[in-house]
Amino acid sequence: MTAFGLPRFATYQFPPWLFQSGQIDFSKKYAFPAERLALVEKLATQNRVHGTGKEEAAAIFTAEGFLVAPGLECSETNLMPNGQSHTSAFFWAQKRMGTFDLGGRNVMQALGPLILTANTLPDVGNVTGILWSGVARVEVSATSSLGDQSPLMLDLMPGDWVEVLRSRGIEVELVHNDSSRNLSRTSRWSTGRKAPPRMPPLPHSVTLELLPPWVEEEVDTTTRLSTPAQRMALANRLVARNIREGTGGPFATVITDPNGGILGVGVNRVVPLGVSPMHGEGTALAVVAQKTGSPVVPENSILATNGCTCGMCMGNVIRARVKTIEYGATTEDIENLTGFDEGIKSGNWAKICQRHGVTVVPDILRHECALELEYYKTSGGMIYNGSRSAEALAAS
Ligand SMILES: [Zn+2]
Repeated sequence: MTAFGLPRFATYQFPPWLFQSGQIDFSKKYAFPAERLALVEKLATQNRVHGTGKEEAAAIFTAEGFLVAPGLECSETNLMPNGQSHTSAFFWAQKRMGTFDLGGRNVMQALGPLILTANTLPDVGNVTGILWSGVARVEVSATSSLGDQSPLMLDLMPGDWVEVLRSRGIEVELVHNDSSRNLSRTSRWSTGRKAPPRMPPLPHSVTLELLPPWVEEEVDTTTRLSTPAQRMALANRLVARNIREGTGGPFATVITDPNGGILGVGVNRVVPLGVSPMHGEGTALAVVAQKTGSPVVPENSILATNGCTCGMCMGNVIRARVKTIEYGATTEDIENLTGFDEGIKSGNWAKICQRHGVTVVPDILRHECALELEYYKTSGGMIYNGSRSAEALAAS
């Protein structure tokens, strides 16, 4: 008999104070960058004052300045391992709009291009996360710091984050709270709309099916995965099943303690759940957080993933204090075999991880992992960020 013993679901919610009167107003037009930043800074302060998280907030707005979704750093209280403010904002906007792609056709028709405004700088994970979210413009306080997010991770990017995002076609503005410098400017995409566009109500709470039911048949948490090959074999088996069941993209992750005891597993759930952070790594970290009650993994945890970790997950994995990353297929394998865009990461990233105390072990069952990626492509699997980039290029 197998023993599964992992949570399959997670519920995430906004802190109740957010919906008390005067905090957020969906009918108000925050037309200028300084007004949007002022709202975000107010929410960040409230988050700290109420003890629900750090003084870090962000929000998604339409080009005219109507609020789509706020985001708060609530990783400790909400156990969202990807729960920094930037990710939180596009996570809730994605849940509100019912799609992982805020730059996709449906959202563009309903709302137009979207703006992310934040009071802290994005780190490497957020920068790639912003790319995956589909927002068109990023506004960050000119006086902001990296916040409390991490002492590292900007060095994992191939250059200045502003230039990196701009090179991917995303508008970036450093906003001064000195309103005289911003009040003259509105977004170049603004249609001048005076009332908020029609959109579904913002959910106050969502329950995600992190793992599809079949995972219970594949994972026995009483077995010990003592070697890198054993861990990768399970990850690749989860990939194979995820593809054939049609429950997500061709990526999976296994997290174990240093002795190979299974702490959590994850499969890519971006399309089924409609949220961009749910890569294999993100889902596995979410499962471990639900199981242990902490957004940080137990000491010396090992993360085995079939495809080399992307920039977004790199940020989340380091922030969750994973000690060892083992991967099979390389970034080039993934991009060449599937067409997925793997995002932003310094060419030197493995060495930089090492400097930060994270050991990277490449080339575990690379051939087997590559075969499954190839199968995904030839069987007609959806290449979402790749196709979006193609669509965006065709439209520009
Ligand atoms: Zn990823």
